Amino acid sequence: MKRSTLSFFSSLVIASLACGLPAPATQLSAETQPAETATSSEPALSADEGLQNEAGTAVLLFDIGMHIEPMGETAQGFPSGKNDYHKPQFFEGHVEDMLTLAQIVEAHGGRMTIQAQSPFTTVAIESGNPILADLAARGHEIALHFHEDAHLGKNPEPLSIQQWCDVMKEEIGYITQASGVADIRYWSGGNLYPNLYEAAECAGLDVNSDWKSPATQSTDMSLIGVNPWRPAGGTDGADFTLFTQHDPNGAIVFLPEGQYDKENFASMRRSEDAGGDEAYFEFLKESLYASLSAAQAGKVNVFHFTVHPGEFLGDPQDPFGVIERFLTEVVDPLVVSGQVQWATYSQMADAYAAQP
Ligand SMILES: [Zn+2]
Repeated sequence: MKRSTLSFFSSLVIASLACGLPAPATQLSAETQPAETATSSEPALSADEGLQNEAGTAVLLFDIGMHIEPMGETAQGFPSGKNDYHKPQFFEGHVEDMLTLAQIVEAHGGRMTIQAQSPFTTVAIESGNPILADLAARGHEIALHFHEDAHLGKNPEPLSIQQWCDVMKEEIGYITQASGVADIRYWSGGNLYPNLYEAAECAGLDVNSDWKSPATQSTDMSLIGVNPWRPAGGTDGADFTLFTQHDPNGAIVFLPEGQYDKENFASMRRSEDAGGDEAYFEFLKESLYASLSAAQAGKVNVFHFTVHPGEFLGDPQDPFGVIERFLTEVVDPLVVSGQVQWATYSQMADAYAAQP
């Protein structure tokens, strides 16, 4: 990607974001062009625009990520999940959810960061379903969600960096085949592997977030905040010394999820005591406001949360009303006032990398 083309596309995107309109077609179609002619598939926010708004106050970069879980036997032959993407009805139901969520987000001027893995990707390839290519063409970032045990088997932590790298590359290959996107940069998962960042760098990835322990489904409070950094290393889930230490030469940008005040925020939606969708989105609202308070002008500040296809079950008459209302009532006014800007995860990382 040529630096010189960035500011042109950035100004187009920023101009459209500022007034809450969907990003222009230049952004939407670039991703599916052949690599030689693609100018800028995911335009970075220009440095000063990612850092502060016209009033000179802090900006919070905002996005919604989507995790596609491994449901059914993965490409590596490991059984996983409670359901199975090889069942057409189940697969197509999730595809429908993905399209509905994408349309809702697009109508509010945003693009999601959609994180996939096998067997969803391989079923999409085998059945010729264009869902990931369609979402990429509409400007959503396509990325990797990596459940290590589903692709490396039980007890993957003792395996070598090369073994991890090879399987991450294999999964990225299916994503590229299903979506047409060659430049996959972001991943989530693999969280208890101390050499995760070496493996991810080997696989060509450079943006990460959504750290939670697969064992406890909780996030260490040392990872909570709004300012990205370049971790000096990974973690085994107990020692966060290297993970929380900034290495200016680190290959990976880590995006914290925001100013959440609970360790179980990443899994609370599905817990029994969460109080359902309404309570969860109320908690997201409070966390977004807390993140705005923590945001500093002159720094890249980020906030994001994760949705899954199949999880909007609160109101059978209007399952997606809760996210539609959240975007309308909470997010849109902050976008209009310049306090919040939509940005995909790689755009957040690029804004951070461009920070003076
Ligand atoms: Zn997952």
